[in-house]
Amino acid sequence: MASIFSRIVAGEIPSWKVAEDDRYYAFLDINPLAEGHTLVIPKQEVDYIFDLDEETYTGLWQFAASVAKAVQEVIPCKRVGVAVLGMEVPHTHIHLVPLQTEGDLDFRKEKKHLSPERFAEIARAIAVAFNQQTV
Ligand code: AMP
Repeated sequence: MASIFSRIVAGEIPSWKVAEDDRYYAFLDINPLAEGHTLVIPKQEVDYIFDLDEETYTGLWQFAASVAKAVQEVIPCKRVGVAVLGMEVPHTHIHLVPLQTEGDLDFRKEKKHLSPERFAEIARAIAVAFNQQTV
C-alpha cells in the first residue's frame, strides 16, 4: 500500500505544498514545531534515508537546501534546523525547522496549532521564495 506521503504526491491527500520538481516534493508538516516546519521527500517511496540510491540521496539534500533557503527568507530565524526521524511515516523525509534556540528542535515539545489560513499563507510565501530562487 502506498505511504501517506506517496498519496500526498499523487494528490489523493491534500498538503500545503511549498516546492516540487520531477523527483522531490516539499510541504508543511501538519503538526509543526514552529511556523514554517517543512518536510522534504523523494517522490520515490523508500522508507529509510540511508537506503536511497546515491543519486536520489544527494539530490534530496540539494533540493532540501534550496527549500531551507526559501523557508529562512519567509520565517525569521537564526538557522533552519534539520532532522531525520522516520519514527511515524515509513517514507524518507527531512524535517526543516526554523530555529531560535536549540530547544526548538525538541520533538517532544507541544506542537504549534495553526489555522488553515495561516498554513496556506506560510506555504504560499515559501513557494514564492523558492520559485524566485530557482528560476
Ligand atoms: P517522523 O516519521 O517521526 O519523522 O514523523 C512524521 C512527521 O510527519 C510528523 O512530524 C507528522 O506531523 C508529519 N505528518 C504526518 N502526516 C502528515 C500529513 N498528512 N501532512 C503533513 N505532515 C504530516
